[in-house]
Amino acid sequence: MPELETRLLIGGEQVVGQGEPIAVENPFSEETVATVGAPSDEQLDAAIAAAREASREWMRTPAVDRGELLHEVANRIEARTDELAQAVTTEGGKPLIENADEISWVVACFRYYAEIGRDSAGRVIPSIESTQLAMVLKEPHGVWGCIVPWNYPLLLLAWKLAPALAAGNATVCKPSELTPISTLMLAPCLEHLPPGVVNLVAGGGEVGAAITADPRVDGVAFTGSVETGKKVGHACMDRVARVNLEMGGKDPFIICSDIADHLDVAARGGAWAAYLNAGQVCTSSERFYVMEDVYDDYVNAFVAVAEGLVIGDPMESGTDIGPMVSANQRAKVAAQVESAVSDGAEVVVGGGDGGQARGHFFAPAVVTGAPSETALLSEETFGPVAPIVPVKSLDEAIELANSTPFGLGANIYTQDFKTILRCMREVKAGTVWFNDPLTDNDAGPFGGFKQSGLGRELGREGLEAFQETKHVHIESEVAPKEWWYPYSEYAG
Ligand code: NAD
Repeated sequence: MPELETRLLIGGEQVVGQGEPIAVENPFSEETVATVGAPSDEQLDAAIAAAREASREWMRTPAVDRGELLHEVANRIEARTDELAQAVTTEGGKPLIENADEISWVVACFRYYAEIGRDSAGRVIPSIESTQLAMVLKEPHGVWGCIVPWNYPLLLLAWKLAPALAAGNATVCKPSELTPISTLMLAPCLEHLPPGVVNLVAGGGEVGAAITADPRVDGVAFTGSVETGKKVGHACMDRVARVNLEMGGKDPFIICSDIADHLDVAARGGAWAAYLNAGQVCTSSERFYVMEDVYDDYVNAFVAVAEGLVIGDPMESGTDIGPMVSANQRAKVAAQVESAVSDGAEVVVGGGDGGQARGHFFAPAVVTGAPSETALLSEETFGPVAPIVPVKSLDEAIELANSTPFGLGANIYTQDFKTILRCMREVKAGTVWFNDPLTDNDAGPFGGFKQSGLGRELGREGLEAFQETKHVHIESEVAPKEWWYPYSEYAG
């Protein structure tokens, strides 16, 4: 077990938080593993002031030098993969193998933005006259608040922190109150940066709200629930601060008839998309729409995969499914499944505690017969539950896929080109995956249609989110223009 860090990082100094103490629970053992102090009002003020101060020099630092420093962040994180992965497992419950993957994606993200951050600072555009130079400059805003949930605490921070820094901004970062430790453990990976460029605080919604409301914070990058995201959006609009919102989802997963010979693969892919991180992924597949001619075979194949999954200690190699993050999250998922059952659905497999004596376990479930209006098919579940629904046609599948207020991701299994083209164009989601669920790409923008979000992370769009756009118009000659006053010159 690595040493768990509980100190905040403010202005380059590691300090004990003097605000409200937060007991961090291990969701497997249900024991408190550490107590982290949120920042006092004075400490949060100091963190934001430090970011403001540091931003002045950081935005003047050549992008190529910032890139070198970000590569060094990546190297340091990579060297600490084991301890960081263990910390994320301890506080979040995700299997160690998935957390080692998470750290490797964090490293890749820092490397990606280290490079594209030094690739361009805008563009030259055609000028109005030949004596002129016209440009579009991309500039840092100054200070960004980065507010993150608990399911991928380091990855979702990296998606904000790496581009914000690459663009020349300083930051104040706040992890979820459920998983602050792994974020605070990043301090040694950041100590070669100028003090104050990255500040790491802890705390719950009140700390997030204080960061969001502070006029010294130019923008807020938020990942979390739709409910909280709307509050962050409103608070930012009140003072016209920049805002990027990554919120919830209810991702559909469509199985087409032409995949009949590959249903075993599509079932493995579907189970992974539904149960990864105990279904606590913003792009978890939460609604399976299966063509009726392959429905029975698909359900059987899916159930076989679910029954074979190893539930248990997330630190053990070979564990497929760890506990959910908290008793609260588990209770919400159990209530949604119970409500579907009282509406006529059947739990074909899973749904209990998976035979575990302790820990917030919810055994991966397959549910059939759920009516479309039940919460299990219309609201975010965020747990390891796969409701499977037969559909008569691709039209019906696409209509159902688009029937919620969400639009984060969507998965389709088909090898029919016409079906791919139709789904690609008609499914309303920020990412549409064909035959390879949930694969992210640093270069591919990530974000939601509809209430799933506003703006994009990753890719060039994910860098531009942290840049202000300035049009610069330079006339090389100092001479009057023919369209200036006096208009009498045009008379007649
Ligand atoms: P949450 O909305 O409860 O909290 C997210 C973060 O916001 C936490 O750090 C929390 O302390 C902070 N916060 C709470 N109230 C705040 C306020 N008023 N102002 C500012 N900050 C505040 O979400 P959660 O339970 O931590 O995470 C689960 C949710 O995150 C799910 O809905 C999931 O879909 C979503 N999520 C989305 C993505 C994505 O990229 N779209 C990725 C992962 C998770």
